[in-house]
Amino acid sequence: MFTDPDCIFCKIVAGTVPCFKLFEDGDTLAFMDINPVHDGHCLVIPKAHYPNVFEIAPEAFAAAARTAARVAKAVKESVKPDGLNLIQANGVGAGQSVEHFHLHVLPRRLNDGVAINWDPKPGDHAHIAEIAEIAARIRALL
Ligand code: 5GP
Ligand code: ZN
Repeated sequence: MFTDPDCIFCKIVAGTVPCFKLFEDGDTLAFMDINPVHDGHCLVIPKAHYPNVFEIAPEAFAAAARTAARVAKAVKESVKPDGLNLIQANGVGAGQSVEHFHLHVLPRRLNDGVAINWDPKPGDHAHIAEIAEIAARIRALL
């Protein structure tokens, strides 16, 4: 299993840094975020060290997704939020501060002002063409 001795989340996996553990299985660990945006904000990580979505093994991503869905249901039931986001950041420009792949399980409240929402704007034709062009560029790589 990949591990990075300087990584805070690898230290949590190893048990040398404490956490409020929620769940673990062979491949994943879920624990409370130390700086929660709302009550119930927690993180799901693969136990192996993968920095981001670009480098994570597909099986590790699938395992993290499975655990996140399970944890999300428990968070929903326990803190009764108005909604819940699964969020995952890659790179500083996306707000990633810990370079060990993680999914935020983030309960939300109505009008909570958390700055990850945006207002969808109705597109004009140029906009649609731009979306299509970008879609083609992405599709060509899949
Ligand atoms: P990112 O900014 O990379 O998307 O999210 C990293 C998250 O990890 C942050 O929400 C931060 O509060 C949390 N975090 C950072 N260090 C620790 C730690 O030592 N323990 C726990 N439980 N959470 C941490
Ligand atoms: Zn790590």
